[in-house]
This record gives sequence, structure tokens and C-alpha cells, in this order.
Amino acid sequence: MTAQLIDGNALSRKIRAEVAERVASLKGRGLQPGLAVVLVGENPASQVYVKHKVADCESTGMRSVLEKYDATLSEADLLARVRALNADPSIHGILVQLPLPPHIDAHKVIETISPAKDVDGFHVHSAGALMVGQPGFKPCTPYGCMKMLESIGCNPRGKNAVVIGRSNIVGKPMAMLLLQASATVTICHSATPDLAEHTRRADIVVAAVGKRNVLTADMVKPGAVVIDVGMNRDDAGKLCGDVDFAGVSQVAGWITPVPGGVGPMTRAMLLVNTLEAAERAAAAAV
Ligand code: NAP
Repeated sequence: MTAQLIDGNALSRKIRAEVAERVASLKGRGLQPGLAVVLVGENPASQVYVKHKVADCESTGMRSVLEKYDATLSEADLLARVRALNADPSIHGILVQLPLPPHIDAHKVIETISPAKDVDGFHVHSAGALMVGQPGFKPCTPYGCMKMLESIGCNPRGKNAVVIGRSNIVGKPMAMLLLQASATVTICHSATPDLAEHTRRADIVVAAVGKRNVLTADMVKPGAVVIDVGMNRDDAGKLCGDVDFAGVSQVAGWITPVPGGVGPMTRAMLLVNTLEAAERAAAAAV
């Protein structure tokens, strides 16, 4: 392997320690940041995710409230709960775990969360703020990817960046953040005829597809920074990313592993967003 590893576990530990310090300072001023996590239904993966989010909060001294509901909860009742959390001054961040049961319109639910508490950064207000360069919450996964670039001293300014994937939660906001940082950004997706043609010119590649081996060694410019957002299972059932790690790490300059790369950073950035929501609430109250 020639590439250096971007260690998401180590970086996220550092970020959590900084969050814990800022939480302690807020608590000293009588304010404990609070995150509400709402889970509807029994999706096993969602249950694990919310458990982690709650534990993460508590490990940094924040308060977290987990609200669990049966899959039969009506959309109207869920919207009423979100409105109640919007009005609760002890709650600074609200996260409704996706996916929601099919009878609930996830878009409607996200749009009901107050933009001031939208710590997932999925509200159209947050997306719009990102688009026009106004302050708002950045979606946690792309935000974490930007922190990873910063941690290795990679300034995107003037670089060619390729984002593979155009979802609202990863690909598009990732591209906006890179653009804001003055990279020349190309967004590729399932209708891109020749992905390699783009990735071979890239100094930074972010793969956010959800398919194994989307990026192989022959598609990467020597020395490039490769960030692997994907979460897949290999034939043995082991967690793996979108990138052929064994091959690409022979060509890239820097690479993120899966697991231990973007995943822990996503969790850390939720804490950062929740803390920032509480700090803004504290500033607004002065
Ligand atoms: P998504 O909504 O399914 O989007 C996938 C994107 O990949 C789409 O834009 C799709 O293009 C594109 N795509 C599909 N096949 C392609 C191909 N062969 N070549 C180029 N582009 C292709 O997924 P997502 O929510 O963005 O998540 C992407 C991956 O990241 C998943 O594995 C997910 O589990 C993972 N993830 C990880 C974290 C973390 O914290 N580590 C967080 C979020 C997501 P079209 O738009 O044309 O269909």
C-alpha cells in the first residue's frame, strides 16, 4: 500500500473531545445541549443507528431523548410530535431516523422540523443555505468528509474534485461544499457514460454510490485523495465501501478505510451540529 490512511476513528475521537469541552463550557453557563432522536418502527439497522446517536450524545455530556413509536404511528401524530419538539426549549436538535414507514411522507416530516433544530441538515432551508453560502446546518456525512480533507491539509481550492453520486443527503451537498471550497467539481451518477474519464483527472474523489468496486485502481490518478462513503457487504458479509481498497490504495495518495473512515465522522458531525444549534440558541437568548 502506498496511500496514507485517513483515520476516521482517530479524527472523530479528537472532534468528540473538542465537543465535550464546548458542552462543558455551555453547561457552566446553565445550558445543556439536547438532541431528540425519533424512531418509528422496528428497522434493525435504524435501531442500531439511534442507539449509537444517543450514546454518542451522552458521552460528550449532552442530553438525548429517544422517542420510539410503533410502525403504525400516523403521519399526523408524528408531525404533532415534531412540532412539540420544535417548541421544547430543552431540545436543540431533532433527528427523525430514516427510512420511515411507507404511509409517512418523509419529506413532509423533515420540512416540519424547525430549521434551527435541523441537525441532520436535510431541510430545504439547510440545503438552500448551503447553496447560497449562508450559515445553516451541513449534512453530517459531507461535513465529515470536508473535515477529513482538512485533517490531511488538503485544500480543495483549484483542485479537480469528482463526486460519484447525487443524493440529497450525500452527493449533492458534498459537491456544494467542495465548490464552496473553490474546487472544480464534477458530479457523476448512474447516467454518466464513462466514469473513469472523469475520475482519472480528479485530485479528490468522493464515492457515494452504495455499490462495491465502483472505483478501481485504473480509474484513479496517482496521488489522489480518495474518500469512500459507501457502505456495502462483501461476499463474506463483511462491511466494505464503494472503492476497491486493496487496488486503489496502491495508486492514491490518501484513502479512507471502510469501516473506520467516513462512518465515525458522520456520527461526530451530528454532535458538532447539535452543539452548534445549542450555542446559537444560547447566543439568541442573550
Ligand atoms: P443513494 O441515494 O442510493 O444514491 C446513490 C447515488 O449513486 C445515486 O445518485 C446514483 O445515481 C449513483 N449511482 C448508482 N450507480 C452508479 C454507478 N454505477 N456509477 C455512478 N453513480 C452511480 O445513496 P446515498 O444515500 O447517497 O448513499 C450512498 C452510499 O453511502 C450508500 O452505500 C450508503 O449506505 C452510504 N452512506 C454512508 C454514510 C456513512 O456515514 N458512512 C452516510 C450516508 C450514506 P442516480 O442518481 O442516477 O440514480
